[in-house]
Amino acid sequence: MADPLTYICPFCDREVRVGKPCPGCAKKSKPAATRKKRSWEQDKSCDGLDLPDEDFDYDDFVAREFGGKPHRQIGVKWYWWILGVILLILMTVGAFRVCL
Ligand SMILES: [Zn+2]
Repeated sequence: MADPLTYICPFCDREVRVGKPCPGCAKKSKPAATRKKRSWEQDKSCDGLDLPDEDFDYDDFVAREFGGKPHRQIGVKWYWWILGVILLILMTVGAFRVCL
C-alpha cells in the first residue's frame, strides 16, 4: 500500500512526499512562459475575483439594488386573509349541509 503521506505527481507520475516539491519536476522545471499550459490552468489575467474593495458601501448597494427597501415584506396581503376566512366559512357551511 502507498504511503498516505505521498501522492503521485500529475506531471511526471513520480511518488512525491506531501509538502515537498516534486523531485522529478524540480530538475526539469522550465520557465512558466515556455511551459505548455495544462487544460485546467488559466491566464494570469484571469487571476483574482475582481471583487469590490474595502470601501464598498453595502447600504448604498442595497439601496440601489432594492430601491431602498432592504427587506422583503413577510406575510400575506389583507385580501388573502379575507379569502381564507370566506373559504373557511363556506367549507364549514358545506360540511353541515352534508351532515344534515
Ligand atoms: Zn513531478
